[in-house]
Amino acid sequence: MTASLEQSLPELEILRRNWPGHESPTTTHPVVVRGVTIGGLDRTIIAGPCAVESFEQTLAVAQAAQAAGAHLLRGGAYKPRTNPHSFQGLGPAGLEILAEVRRRTGLGVVTEVLDPRLVEQVAAHADMLQIGSRSMQNFPLLTEVGRTEVPVLLKRGFSATLEEWLCAAEYVAQEGNRRIVLCERGVRTSCHWSYARSVLDLNILEPLRRLTPLPVVVDPSHSTGDWRLVLALSRAAIAAGAHGLVLEVIESGADRRLLRSDAQQGVPPDVLEEIAAAARGVVGA
Ligand code: PEP
Ligand code: MN
Repeated sequence: MTASLEQSLPELEILRRNWPGHESPTTTHPVVVRGVTIGGLDRTIIAGPCAVESFEQTLAVAQAAQAAGAHLLRGGAYKPRTNPHSFQGLGPAGLEILAEVRRRTGLGVVTEVLDPRLVEQVAAHADMLQIGSRSMQNFPLLTEVGRTEVPVLLKRGFSATLEEWLCAAEYVAQEGNRRIVLCERGVRTSCHWSYARSVLDLNILEPLRRLTPLPVVVDPSHSTGDWRLVLALSRAAIAAGAHGLVLEVIESGADRRLLRSDAQQGVPPDVLEEIAAAARGVVGA
């Protein structure tokens, strides 16, 4: 089973067997994002709102997340929405807000780029470019981010196979950018929006880590769709070998009915604090 997976994969430069110095299954290729290492000994916490909705909201969430133990700030200025009538993000104004919040907090910014034509604009404001689940096989977008030197957070398509995901990473790497972090965010099954949004595929962490030295993080917010499940799944992801977590956070006491995207999945700061403690191995501290 194991051997056949390795044999069945195409010759990709991101595979250990083709990456000199990373043949051993225990090494990683750390990715440094504004001074924060992903893929080192410490587990990295990337946290923030689903969408940048205003300067005040983004700053408040960022400060609360930082106080709770986050290392990097996430937040979408361009949002991939199923319904074209839903809030699409603040666009360039959202990028300006993220840059200002970074200036105030010192937190590096991770934000999504949806369009190959906007890579330059987003890269000018971001420390890490997120490729969302729905864009995992947008090959021109992957090529364009591969031409930058900006770290890339490559989310798994919600029905992508292991091979398809690795091939997507290869599109980025073959342009010269190997600053790639893979992010598992759940795959869609019959559970969809019953007890959870998706199934968090923790099975994939071990094979991924065996096959490639690229760091792997886990997003239990988008996989569960329900903040009450996020602490347990965060613990599970760390136990299963994730190098870090991507988490949506809301302001303490925020009215979820007023949030413009993914209202039910953001954890309040006190839960983030527990997750960060678990990630540091000081559970209950
Ligand atoms: C997000 O992280 O904001 C997001 C839209 O996630 P995904 O692409 O995994 O659905
Ligand atoms: Mn979201």
